[in-house]
Amino acid sequence: MRKKIVAGNWKMNKSLPETGELIAGIKAELSTMPDAEIIVSPAFTNLYYTFELLKGTGIKLAAQNMNAADHGAFTGEISAEMLKSIGVNTVILGHSERRALFGETDALLAKKVTTAIENDMRIIFCFGEELKDRKAEKHFDVVLTQLEKGLFHIAKENWESVVLAYEPVWAIGTGETASPEQAQEMHDFIRKSVAKKYGDDIADEVSILYGGSVKPENAQELFSNPDVDGGLIGGAALDAKSFVAIANAF
Ligand code: PEP
Repeated sequence: MRKKIVAGNWKMNKSLPETGELIAGIKAELSTMPDAEIIVSPAFTNLYYTFELLKGTGIKLAAQNMNAADHGAFTGEISAEMLKSIGVNTVILGHSERRALFGETDALLAKKVTTAIENDMRIIFCFGEELKDRKAEKHFDVVLTQLEKGLFHIAKENWESVVLAYEPVWAIGTGETASPEQAQEMHDFIRKSVAKKYGDDIADEVSILYGGSVKPENAQELFSNPDVDGGLIGGAALDAKSFVAIANAF
């Protein structure tokens, strides 16, 4: 069944004590578990601590990245096996900051996707156009190419491990949000693209999250669209009240 999901990407924020405070804040704000699955994604150094803090809460944990290789001479990198060994079964791949600042190409992401699947990890696959693409009316082409090159090599049966996160780059961390109409239009296109390649059953089941300056004030309007199944939240996920308000916005 298609799930509602609200995931918080903490990026390179929060020390260990601050991580403890934010998790405590989220737990305190969550009087009951919302309809949506809640995922938090702290920095690598704080993942195991967070895993311990989340025990028994139902809140899930995701890593922000991982290497495509299983192990070896890759100084500074983290493998799928390492993540799984500390209880992390979900990984965010293809975030626009990884693409733009760390040179992650569609080809590399395709390898990471394969590695995640081989290791039975769930993938939150991020993609989205830049402002110049939208201005040139190439946003649908760009999004389709990212999906085709980075993700559409997987087998039909692997789609149960995939969550899609459409994040227009021009809306990430900028305070500018896609309008609910723009989000719905693109999510509809994404679902139809999945349907074309894999069939309606897969397309109907996959959760498609929107990311880009989601806040408590705009979450409800965005999430009320039929093809928007939740959000990937950056800045607002660093504040417990705001994050829980977004999680409760369905
Ligand atoms: C993100 O980085 O995935 C994101 C959506 O950030 P923000 O919510 O801050 O725009």
